[in-house]
Amino acid sequence: MSITDILVIAKYRFSLIEVDAWDLWEGGGYDPNPFISPEGTGGGPPPETIYFKRVRCTIPDQAAKRISDHIDFNLVGSESVEFSATILGAGGGYFQTYQDKIWTSLDPSEVSIHFPPPDGLSSVVMTFHTHPVSLEPSPTLDALNRYPSPKDWEEAARIVNAYSANHPSLLSLKLAIRGPDKKIRIFNFSDRARYESKSVADKIAGVDLPPEVSSTASCEP
Ligand SMILES: [Zn+2]
Repeated sequence: MSITDILVIAKYRFSLIEVDAWDLWEGGGYDPNPFISPEGTGGGPPPETIYFKRVRCTIPDQAAKRISDHIDFNLVGSESVEFSATILGAGGGYFQTYQDKIWTSLDPSEVSIHFPPPDGLSSVVMTFHTHPVSLEPSPTLDALNRYPSPKDWEEAARIVNAYSANHPSLLSLKLAIRGPDKKIRIFNFSDRARYESKSVADKIAGVDLPPEVSSTASCEP
């Protein structure tokens, strides 16, 4: 057997995000990733819905915006559930969605982020996921959720730490977050320490938030 996917499960429950990682094996089925989640949690990943959407852009940040626009205009439940995609270099100066897919969970409070097999991780440039508005109305939490969560940084670090020795390009990994305000912002993994050192008050005030990505001009229609 060989690994065909690494499935990272981020369970978003109110202000708490729990993360676990699984490997999808050829022939179907999941096992806890022995490196990323050595303890495993049992029970397997949650049911998922997959939407096929080919996104191709020459600027990866704009690919994240294109995915977000597609979610807004086409996908049911986009207000209240999390969506994810992984953006890869596709050759010829293009970047595209991994497997031309956007994932969501059937649960409004969790989403998976899929990656290519470990030997293909060098092509990964960005992960995209959404932070929906709070289940319980909370302007404070919505403001904090414009930023990657502590668990988002932690999970990105696990991938980078596990694979960057063989794939140094992962050190330049970017996290595209669509906040509760529906704005796309791009965070460099390398800036983790700078963002994680910010206070709650700073985040509520929006200190150091990256500019919104508002163009899809480099994307194929
Ligand atoms: Zn997140």
